[in-house]
Amino acid sequence: MSLLPQDAREETTAFFIDSDSEHNSERDDHHQVILQKANALASENCLKEAIDCVSLAMRYGPVRPDELSVVVDCIFRNFKSKLAGPDAGPGQSGDTCGDSIFDCPNCRGFLAEPVTLACGHSYCKRCLHRRLLSKCKLCDEVVKGEEKLNITLTRLLDKWFPGQTKTTKSLSELDELLSNKCYHEVVTLATNVIQADPESMVVARLSRSEAYTALQQYQEALEDAEFCSRPEMLQRSSAEATFRKAMVLFEMGQVDKSLQVFLHCLALDENFPCAKRHVEKILCNLLFPDEEKVKEGLKETAHNSSPHLRNKAFMADQPSPAQKQHQVRATSAHIHSEGQERRWESLERHSLSRAHSLQIHSSSCEEGLKRVCSAPQLGNQEKGSLLKRKLSVSDTEPSVVDRVSSKHKKQGAAKSSIQQLVKEKTCRKVSKDVLDPNDFECALCMRLFYEPVTTPCGHTFCKTCLERCLDHTPHCPLCKESLKQYLACRKYMVTTVLDLLIKHYLSQEYAERTKTHLDETRELSDLTKNVPIFVCTMAYPTVPCPLHVFEPRYRLMIRRCMETGTRQFGMCINDPQKGFVDYGCMLIIRSVHFLPDGRSVVDTVGGKRFRVLTRGMKDGYSTADIEHLEDTRVEDSEEQKRLQELYNAVYDQARVWFQNLKVRFHNQILQHFGPMPEREADIQATPNGPACCWWLLAVLPIDPRYQLSVLSMSSLKERLVKIQQILTYLQSIPSI
Ligand SMILES: [Zn+2]
Ligand SMILES: [Zn+2]
Ligand SMILES: [Zn+2]
Ligand SMILES: [Zn+2]
Repeated sequence: MSLLPQDAREETTAFFIDSDSEHNSERDDHHQVILQKANALASENCLKEAIDCVSLAMRYGPVRPDELSVVVDCIFRNFKSKLAGPDAGPGQSGDTCGDSIFDCPNCRGFLAEPVTLACGHSYCKRCLHRRLLSKCKLCDEVVKGEEKLNITLTRLLDKWFPGQTKTTKSLSELDELLSNKCYHEVVTLATNVIQADPESMVVARLSRSEAYTALQQYQEALEDAEFCSRPEMLQRSSAEATFRKAMVLFEMGQVDKSLQVFLHCLALDENFPCAKRHVEKILCNLLFPDEEKVKEGLKETAHNSSPHLRNKAFMADQPSPAQKQHQVRATSAHIHSEGQERRWESLERHSLSRAHSLQIHSSSCEEGLKRVCSAPQLGNQEKGSLLKRKLSVSDTEPSVVDRVSSKHKKQGAAKSSIQQLVKEKTCRKVSKDVLDPNDFECALCMRLFYEPVTTPCGHTFCKTCLERCLDHTPHCPLCKESLKQYLACRKYMVTTVLDLLIKHYLSQEYAERTKTHLDETRELSDLTKNVPIFVCTMAYPTVPCPLHVFEPRYRLMIRRCMETGTRQFGMCINDPQKGFVDYGCMLIIRSVHFLPDGRSVVDTVGGKRFRVLTRGMKDGYSTADIEHLEDTRVEDSEEQKRLQELYNAVYDQARVWFQNLKVRFHNQILQHFGPMPEREADIQATPNGPACCWWLLAVLPIDPRYQLSVLSMSSLKERLVKIQQILTYLQSIPSI
């Protein structure tokens, strides 16, 4: 099956031989190592070997059900590969048909009481409330389930489908009754709903099945669950229905059969949380029926054999006579023990009485359990194949299927109501007269939602509107609930349903709104008109300029630069009269690192220089119409030669100055501005001249006003002369 077992076995053997102490900690180590090996084998798909390892680990100590997670995954993979037929694939989970916009992506029922998750997808409250999904069906994001009802969407659906509101009410009443353990009331109410409303029949039946199970009316419970898992139920809640069926079997004590149905449920929905936990638990019980007694047996065995021998015995799985004896004792007559029952207790509802659950099951099942419980006596090979047999599809599944198909005939009448359901579903259209663009208005900009996002508190805004609010305070602008967490994630995923509804039902309004948005964006991305100006510090071409952005106006500015795709803004120093000076340098954003509270560290590098033509303001920050500034090119070859000589002299002088700088300053400069740029072959290659001039200008300890005057020069020669003067002056002062 795989190359791994042999190698792994040798490794473990070596480990055992090396150890010579009999302490508990050592045993814990063995336990952990073997479990790790089991997981490794399971991930390699070596199911039998993995199960052998788990049973070995169990001799060293108890194994928690959740520690079997990887093994369960492996079992599930094997199980799924054997499953064939129309209801095998989980492929149905991802598809979205045209008229499913009002359906919950999980249960495929009406999107009643919609809740929008952080990923932007919306589910019915029931699915999230009952934790019927652990990951988003559409994008795989882990579901936290702390979000509140989507207020805009709830209001819309109430208005558009008033009939549905009544149904929703009855169904949540059922849930309420179930959680209050009023099972008789659930049965009565559910029966009424089933008769009156084909649309919510499936959900009502599932609730009734749950109630019947609690009332120990297993046959009725099974009938309801099986009805809902029929293929023609449009796959609505099929995983939940299968889970329900498995739960009934489990409660009936038919653990073998329930294990298969739980796996079947996982085949329909890999991420059905409760099903997986049940499989882990059942497997744990099957493999390790009575931990205390086996542990006792182990203790004695440990005394009787040397580590080497003990290990050998384990590896070959030939228990010593003493061990065997203990195991037989350990596994006899424990089926009816209290502990066992406690372990088999439902994970869902602990209050259920299950005292009878093991007595009522059929004799064949009891036989099966005995077989499983005595498993530790068997050789690993036998045990593995036994478990495989238990997990194989062919064994018991047909009987379940048969029962379902025979029921099909009996319940032929129900088929018409299902057809009606299909019809209604496809007919769920919104009539023109209830369509009102005002229902889609953003409370912040009073316009149609553009890229609507929904906060965990259930309020919806345009993405950019919400972001602007969060620049100032991390609270919902409507209900003031803290959005710190939401802000820290910075995802702002668009609420898909609302976005689709707007595009579909308000296409004209949406087109207009999009045009406005694009116009605004175009305006913002002009690189000579209304260019955003950051008034802060001197910036130079090619020189890096890291910025800490915390002021709300600059947060908005940086975000806009990123959103429009220009990734540029102008940098100028302050001017007391004009607001900012006449010359500046464009900064190109290389990366933005957002801090959880919305502040950011922006890494930029200098681009083109510019001269300010006119000044303006936009949403709190300065803007300017600008013209770019370029060096006047020297064409005369004699002049070029002299310019090159001047450059070489300044470069050499600068290098000496930098090398003679005190280590502290030297390192500070390296850290902030990087090393001195290389000597350039063609000093007129760019309209900004050689990079080392800008680097020097940035690092030399001179007044910003003086720096500014050098920045604004369009003659390389003049610039070099200025820098030469500064360097000569600095070198004349010995203290620097
Ligand atoms: Zn749902
Ligand atoms: Zn999602
Ligand atoms: Zn808005
Ligand atoms: Zn809110």
